[in-house]
Amino acid sequence: MNASVSVPSLFNLRPEAEQAPSSGIVDVFNHARGREGVIPLWVGEGDLPTPAFICDAASRSLAAGETFYTYQRGIPDLRQALARYHERVYGLPSDPERFFVTTGGMPAMQIAMRMVAGNGDDVLIPTPAWPNFVGAVTVAGARPVAVPMVFGQNGWNLDFERLEASVTPRSRAILVNSPANPTGWTATLSDLRALLDFARRHGLWIVADEIYGRFVHDPALAIDGRAPSFRDVMSPEDRILFVQTFSKNWAMTGWRLGWLEAPPALGQVIENLIQYQTSGTPVFVQRGGIAALEDGEDFVAHQIDRARTGREIVGRLADTGYVDLPPPSGAFYAFLKIKGGRTSKEVAMALIEEAKVGLAPGSAFGEAGEGYLRLCYAREASDLEEAVRRIAEALPRIAG
Ligand code: PMP
Repeated sequence: MNASVSVPSLFNLRPEAEQAPSSGIVDVFNHARGREGVIPLWVGEGDLPTPAFICDAASRSLAAGETFYTYQRGIPDLRQALARYHERVYGLPSDPERFFVTTGGMPAMQIAMRMVAGNGDDVLIPTPAWPNFVGAVTVAGARPVAVPMVFGQNGWNLDFERLEASVTPRSRAILVNSPANPTGWTATLSDLRALLDFARRHGLWIVADEIYGRFVHDPALAIDGRAPSFRDVMSPEDRILFVQTFSKNWAMTGWRLGWLEAPPALGQVIENLIQYQTSGTPVFVQRGGIAALEDGEDFVAHQIDRARTGREIVGRLADTGYVDLPPPSGAFYAFLKIKGGRTSKEVAMALIEEAKVGLAPGSAFGEAGEGYLRLCYAREASDLEEAVRRIAEALPRIAG
């Protein structure tokens, strides 16, 4: 995993803070700083601003004076809207008491970790993985255990033998991100059943990050237009915490609004943890969230459509002969395997210089990501066409 920060011993910091990894994407970002005309495909967000009807709902709330402390678990209107949203998308009855509003997906992940793992505990993470998983586990005081996935002709797959071999008496949880950032891997129902069986047998919590669940591109996998979910296979007594966010579906990355879904019996514990973390999410932000859930389906459909077009465009990079790119099944990232001997960071830096395109080096996603580059295709088609043209032109010189 990425290097931790080195702080002079004089400060005597807690190891949990000092060992939190730095972002491996920032170096590339810094390299591009100040250069004109770089197409930024390294970030994990689309290029569309939040739709006006969502902003208007937040403005109305501010104008109406909703500027006070509020419910730690989230305002009842939003928790009810979340239950209705889940019923609609997953076709299962849902209880508002299962939903806890957080200031983004990341804080939901942090609360989940604080509940299930700490000092002396291990958390299994199939990799390549979004680096913040390692960060959240580390700052909770637990140890992230990377379990590399296998890459074959059809893309990425879980390695169940390796998962079994990684379990020890210290193991407390497994983090499952499907559809995955950065690989686009999307669990099948049978993967989810096998993971659930694995977690039950070893007494592990599952922390399920299904934030890209609406972005499923392989029709063989889709269930009513969304990715398979642990909801499809779980029983109410299963130990599963769902991390969720408004960031991607509704283009709300800057709002910092997400939710944790958990058994209602954990309500008081979660309420306390929110109290000591943020003391609640601003009401006007939550009003924006309600508008997104209630009136945002057309916008979500538009984003999914755009991502499909983007996926097709960047898929053409496979024709260059310099990258392997099995079509990603979900999310909005292409994870390109680069041919030749250069490291992913070297290639990412060279692409900035020679193609003016910013990609994230695979090494930022754990050792299993070395040799790959992540490209976010949630963007305007014309930008992606231009990026593909520039990369295809530069790769013969830089892939090595
Ligand atoms: N999970 C995954 C897999 C992500 O990619 C992200 C954002 N990049 C998040 C969670 C968190 O999203 P946010 O904190 O913006 O809500």
